[in-house]
Formats: sequence, structure tokens, C-alpha cells
Amino acid sequence: MAVGGSLRLSWRIAFGRLESDAAFEQLLALVRAHRGVIDELALFDDLVHAVYIPLEEVARRAELLARRIRALKELGVPSVGINVLATIGHADEGLDIVPEMPFPPMVGHDGAISKGCACPNSAEFREYIRQKYTLMAQAEPDFIWVDDDIRMHHHGAVDYGCFCPICLELFAQQVGRHYSREALVAALNDPAQARLRRAWIERNIRTIESLLQEIGQTVRRVNPQITLGLMTNGPGWTTYSGVALERWFTALGATKARPGGGFYSDANRLGIISKALELGRQRAALPKTVDDCQYELENFPYQLLKKAARSVVHEGTLALAVGLNGVAFNALGMWGANPPDEFAGILERVHEVRPLWERLVAHIQNLPTVGLWPAWTPQLMARRRLRPGEDWFAEDRLYQIGQPTVLAEIGLPLSVERMGSPAILAGRVAEAFSKAQLRAMLAKGALLDSVALEVLEKLGLGELAGVRLARRYDNGVLERFTQDPLNGEYAHQVRDARIDFFWRQDRRGMADVLEPLDPNVRVLATLETYTGQGLGPCMTAFENPLGGRVVVMGYSPWQFIHSLAKRNQLVNVADWLSRGELPVRIKDPVPLTPFVRMARSRRRGLIVLLNHGLETIPQVRIEVRSPMPVRLAEPWREILFPQEQGGELILHNIPPWSTVCLFVGKVVVP
Ligand SMILES: [Zn+2]
Repeated sequence: MAVGGSLRLSWRIAFGRLESDAAFEQLLALVRAHRGVIDELALFDDLVHAVYIPLEEVARRAELLARRIRALKELGVPSVGINVLATIGHADEGLDIVPEMPFPPMVGHDGAISKGCACPNSAEFREYIRQKYTLMAQAEPDFIWVDDDIRMHHHGAVDYGCFCPICLELFAQQVGRHYSREALVAALNDPAQARLRRAWIERNIRTIESLLQEIGQTVRRVNPQITLGLMTNGPGWTTYSGVALERWFTALGATKARPGGGFYSDANRLGIISKALELGRQRAALPKTVDDCQYELENFPYQLLKKAARSVVHEGTLALAVGLNGVAFNALGMWGANPPDEFAGILERVHEVRPLWERLVAHIQNLPTVGLWPAWTPQLMARRRLRPGEDWFAEDRLYQIGQPTVLAEIGLPLSVERMGSPAILAGRVAEAFSKAQLRAMLAKGALLDSVALEVLEKLGLGELAGVRLARRYDNGVLERFTQDPLNGEYAHQVRDARIDFFWRQDRRGMADVLEPLDPNVRVLATLETYTGQGLGPCMTAFENPLGGRVVVMGYSPWQFIHSLAKRNQLVNVADWLSRGELPVRIKDPVPLTPFVRMARSRRRGLIVLLNHGLETIPQVRIEVRSPMPVRLAEPWREILFPQEQGGELILHNIPPWSTVCLFVGKVVVP
């Protein structure tokens, strides 16, 4: 993707702030006071997440939006457009107050029927959508956002759609055989029907593709100058809809993207890390035609005390660090009865940080993220294997692509694009890759858990990991660190993740013994019972004949890795796997998460450090592997480290819940 080199700050405005003149006057006052941080305003057309509004009401709203757009443009806002809240419908919301849908509903795999979300394929629905978007385009917006209800999963009562008669007929045309809903679901749950599962995901992709194509054509028919944007959901939620970003953005003709996913409040503050990575993954999958990619800043339903303004600022900083160029703030409240001033604190913080963000975007334009790459593919659900008795639709920890995110909490940089980094294979995600793809990963370097090892063994690739899965335990065990140099000063110490305590239902891959297949396999840890009986190796390192370095983890691979001994080991392992090519090493055990973008030459880059802890870090040693000077920049301080050959920096007094930006190389001032 060729995301633009300039920062874009966009604010989404609830319909409740637009409808009455009194509420709109309050909005205008807010906009006047904060013009400096408003590059773009996206006006919602609705307050309810169900799909249907009668067309005469759509027409009334379009006329209202047209007036509001003109007024905001007259105020000097450079870009004002419309955010169509519902296209298919997000949820079964307000069903007692919204009119019944006059077109067929979305139907779930279990027969559930949505009352707020439509089947995207009926002729009646498509006609309605053409008229709705025609009216919106006639309001003369600079752009139109299509919201993230363009998905085939999680629509109100429906978990996985659409199994209505129309969609079943389209599928029959696609595969040459007609299924009833019940027969199709049974076939999709048949381990032998891998091809059918792929075809069904392809059906989902095509449904979305054709809907978006229709919307794009409709808008361009009214005015080809209107820019189109598509909001998307991340693959960490599910890949059921196909995550075919290249095809979908092309079909819509969209040049704006707003990837999304999670982190609504500070209640789960570490969600800020997984969200940044989830959005970065979507950014990395966009076609090159997209030149504006905005972070989903989501405070819905806008209860001010749920998220600190500083969290909002950190989200923006991390968004830029994973390659987006802007932020779409959904943070200014819903209802005109509540004046928008209560959210002014957020805008004020954005004023403070804007100059830094401008520099940041200019400095790291087009640089890739660098770090270990948690492997994922849009085809995960389409290509995964199914064993007898398994439910394809059920959630399963072993297929969660976010499991390795925990490595970021202990200081390892994770990348969102492949770029030759060592891969991380967690759980059964490896099933979705071809044997050749996996072999290539193992030839480069990989960190895997013992469930992934099982997948590799089935493909005949186990030898490249140097070990085989010998025995599986599920209670009363811990791991003990060996004297291998990768364990540093922590030899003989133990890590006890209390797997029987925390994983009562599902302990697959939590305590596995690995048997070395090669005398050169290094054992990093052994499994041991609480009574002191040794059970064999549970973590190993191996340099295989393809030249790749592979580490296998058999004991609680993604949980409770935060002890000093484990952190030290995994930081050493990451350096060993990547042959020292990771651009940064946080040398002390502190709760800093690095996000890194770096040129291959190491002469230009950025390292954002998030202190996700709740204490000040008085001092920390950071090794920056670059020959260039490093400049620490925060909105309130700036320090130049004029190092000649890279090396160790010492940072002092990093406040709790804060970010520090380290600019590597000559800083471009925009
Ligand atoms: Zn349908």
C-alpha cells in the first residue's frame, strides 16, 4: 500500500449532533475552537445500527447532511463527507422503534434470523442500497465511508451468514450442486469437504465484492469526484468473511481505508497493543491504490471516564508506528442533548501531540514494520483442517492468530508484514499454509509451539524443527531452565504457569515433551513434575539443514511468560532466531513494548516504546542497532543521542502508561 505521507485527523460526528440546529451550533463552536486538529469530518447518517430506514427518511437526512456539509466547509474544514452507518446492518438494534425490513433478512448457519441485518444478495435489498447511496452522493460530500458492517459474520442474531434461500441458490450456481441449509452446514463440518469450505468462503468474498462494486458504481454515477472509503474488520476476529481486502477495495474503487478492531476502554489496557497489531495487519494487506489509512479510534458509547485522553493519544502514536497515516476519532458522543464540550479534553491532547505526529509520519513514510512475524493468512478458516467431531464454526484457541501478541508485552518487536523476518507459528494456524510456504519459513527461522510442531509433522516437515512431539502431559508440571547460554544467568530456575489451575477445559499443547531427532538440538528447558521428576525436554533450539533456526516451545507457550527468567530467555531466543537482525533490544526487564519501523539500511527508522506498566521506569538500557544518531521525542521533551555506531542508549524516567518515540537517522521536518 502507498499510504500518504501526511497526517490526517478525522472526526466522526454522530447524527444526534447534526439533526437539530441547536445541537449543530454547539458542534460548530467545537469545530471553530479546534480547527487545528480537524482535517476531516465524517458525518453519520443514522444513530441505529440496524439497516433499514425508509427511503423518504433517507432523502430527508441526505438533504440535512448536504446543508451541514456546506456549513462545515464554509467554516474552513478541508474535507467533509458522509459515514453511512449501516449498509447490511451491524446489529439487531432498536427493533421496537425501527420499521421492519422490507427485504429478506440475513440467515445464520444455525437458522437464526436477523431482524436488523439484511441478506446482501436479494434484488430488493440491492435496489434499496442503490437508492440510498444515490441520495447520499447527491448531498455533495467530499467522500463517503462504507462502514464495517460489510461482513458475513456477527450480524445480530446471526453468527455466521448467509444461509438464506437466495444465497444457497447462488452457492448452487457456484459449485453445481444445491444444498439445503442443514445439508450445507453438515457438509461444511465434514472433515473430507475441504474444497467445499474454501468455496463457501469464496462465496462470502464474492457477495461482499459484488455489493461493494454496486455501491461504487452507484456513487460514481452521481459524482465521480466523490472519494470512497471502506471500513474493515480484522482477521483476529475471524477470517470467515474472507478478508479479501485487495478485491474489495478494488471493487468499491476505495482509496481510503479504516481498519478496525477492539479496545473500547482502559479496562483492558493491554488491548491497545493487540489492536495496533490487528490494524497494522489490515494496513499491510491493502492494495497500493489506497493512499489514506485511518486508525479506528473507538470510544463507543462515549462514556468519558472509560478511557483516558492519554490513551487516545497513545493509540494514535501506535497507529502511526504500524504504518497508518491518520486517525478516525469516534469519540465525540452521540446525542445532541449532551453538549460536545465534555470531550474537548481529547481534542486538547491531540493539539499537543499533533506536531510530533506530523514529524513521525513524514519520517517513516513507506518503511516496513520490523520484528518477529506472527504468521497469519486471510485463508485461515478456508484452509484449516477439520477433524472428526470438530465444529468449523466454533471458536478455538488454537486458531487464534493473536496468541503470540503476548511477546510484545515482554519487549519483543512484532511485525505486521512478512519482509523476511522470522515467523511465529502458534497453534494450528500453520494448517492454512502450503507445505512450500512452511518450508520457506523454517528455512528462514521460526518460533513455534508444540501444537504447530504437530501440524508440521503431519506434513513431513517436523525434522526441520529438530524434534518430535513425544508425550503430552496436562497437570502437575513446570519447566526448568537448562544451562544453555540462551538462558543466561537463569540456569536451573523454574517457570510454573499452573496450567491445571488456569486452563481447566483445554490444555492442548500446554505441557509437551519434545524428543530431539538430531544431536545438535539444544535443550533450553525440561519438563518436570511438582515432585521433582524429570520428564524430558520441553523447549529446544535447532539450526536445520536449510540454514533456518527453529525454536519449539512445549510448555505454556503464550501464557505467563512474564517472569524475569522467561523474558530473558525469549529476548535471547528472538536475537538468536533472527541472527541479531532485530533493530532494537530492550536490555532490562521493564514493561516496555517496542513498535519498530526501519529501512533495510538501518539509516532511517522509528522505535516507539510503550510503557504499558503503571510505574515510572527510572532507567532502562536500549540497544538500537543503527549507525545513525537517535533522537528521543515526546510532546514535552527532546533528547539527542549522538551515537556514531548505534549502540546502547539509557533512557530515564519514562512515565507510567506513556509512549516514547525514538527517531533513528536524520529527522525530516515537514
Ligand atoms: Zn442471503
